[in-house]
Amino acid sequence: MTRNATQPNLAVGVVGAGTMGRGIAQVAATGGCTVKLYDAKEGAATEAVEFVSRMLKRAVEKGRMEAADADAATARLKLVDAVSGFAACDVVIEAVIEDMEIKRKVFAEIEAVIAEDAVLATNTSSLSVTRIASACSRPERVAGFHFFNPVPLMPLVEVISGLKTEDWVTDFLVDLGIRMGRQPLRVADAPGFLVNQVGRGYTIEAAHLVSEGVADFVDVDRIMRDAAGFRTGPFELLDLTALDVTHPATVEIYEQYFHEPRFRPSALMNTRMQAGLLGRKVGQGFYVYEDGKQVVPEEAAPPKFDGGKFWVSRALADAHDALAEIVRAAGGELDTGERPADDSVILVTPLGDDATAAAVEQALDATRTVAVDVLFGLDTRRSVMKTPLTTPEATRAAHAVLAADGVPVTVLRDSPGFVAQRIVAMIVNIGASVAQQGIATPEDIDKAVKLGLNYPHGPLGFGDALGADKVLRVLEGLHRQYGDPRYRPNPWIRRRAQLGVSLLTAES
Ligand code: NAD
Repeated sequence: MTRNATQPNLAVGVVGAGTMGRGIAQVAATGGCTVKLYDAKEGAATEAVEFVSRMLKRAVEKGRMEAADADAATARLKLVDAVSGFAACDVVIEAVIEDMEIKRKVFAEIEAVIAEDAVLATNTSSLSVTRIASACSRPERVAGFHFFNPVPLMPLVEVISGLKTEDWVTDFLVDLGIRMGRQPLRVADAPGFLVNQVGRGYTIEAAHLVSEGVADFVDVDRIMRDAAGFRTGPFELLDLTALDVTHPATVEIYEQYFHEPRFRPSALMNTRMQAGLLGRKVGQGFYVYEDGKQVVPEEAAPPKFDGGKFWVSRALADAHDALAEIVRAAGGELDTGERPADDSVILVTPLGDDATAAAVEQALDATRTVAVDVLFGLDTRRSVMKTPLTTPEATRAAHAVLAADGVPVTVLRDSPGFVAQRIVAMIVNIGASVAQQGIATPEDIDKAVKLGLNYPHGPLGFGDALGADKVLRVLEGLHRQYGDPRYRPNPWIRRRAQLGVSLLTAES
């Protein structure tokens, strides 16, 4: 290793002073580096320095930083008016627009002026680091350095090795990331790297579910927040990140993976992007924003429970007991027969199957069958699902009895794996595929996803929390019902489920 990222007078170049470049400049300056900032657009770099200076002042006002440290950090920010201004930099971090040809051109220009052993890094979120590096005569000193937005608040930075990147370069960037107050994690170059690859599971599957007519987007958001424990629903998230950023990145990942079906983009996202319904930044996406505030449609009140008889399937013993207790507590009559009586509403608890398949498999009357998702517990929000033949009376009775204790209930059209089972199984499956490909260690996969996406668990830990065997069953059900290779379980999950060990189990 020739450059030392911990040396006091480290010079960091930042090219592109937009949303990301200014955040990167801020954390580099607070980490004690001299920062040289360049943007091709007239006045953009000056504006960025003013912005960072305001951010640092605000940090002082909030008591998060000493005034002297903020002043010193601001003083370390220097403007340069051409790429030649990076000549003496130890490292240059590129954060220009997400366009392969522009990035390759910028890299070749910078390489022509910097020292032989200076490091070049790209903050691209979805382009191949290896391909960007191939524009350079020394690709071995090029790596990805992928920050998250907003940079000063998001601790994760992915340090990505291209195929030719030498270890000293990633070691240098790991040290630099720490100096910038980040938590760097090592990731191999792959489409979407680690975090953006796993994140596709959440948003694309949600969009496919809405396209299929299983639920509307507000209900999907409610289920994912309340039942599955995500802080932000997938459609709120899409509105926040904007469809003109998310959808092209999805297409990019799909193309780089030669049409791997797990990443198949959503036509729904594409048409909404074309219509200009981009999200919060334009005042309308999936939600409408008034004065910057999301307008959330109100949830209809549940039907009032006025009695009824319920038979609960024993296909899952625990689920039977939990649902039987809810029926009893609501004052409903529990049908304890081996088979449902003619006037009982039938509750089934499928994993990875739809209500129709559960009714047919258990030889039940589909007109009275309603499915309940039990995989995420029954405490926070309950999802119920009807077959195409379920009568409105049976659906209403099931809805009412399940809502009688005040827990909200969402009624869905038939879907193998309801909403939450499907989306979470996809996240686990993609996380498992990242592990299988050796893109990062199992621990780092979970750590990166929790830090970068704020999910309640990393994908592998989520699978463990639900049970690897159950996630496998959901994926198998989806795969069987759709015949779509999108849902085929990754061998990483199958093997660990068969062996009865954690999905975090690495291979020696
Ligand atoms: P942005 O549009 O806010 O900023 C890009 C800046 O680059 C602009 O100021 C533009 O004038 C400048 N620029 C364009 N061409 C240039 C050139 N040839 N030389 C110098 N400057 C040039 O974009 P952003 O959101 O900051 O994204 C920058 C990069 O970071 C992209 O690769 C993006 O994929 C990646 N990224 C973005 C996010 C995010 O959430 N915004 C998160 C992670 C990574």
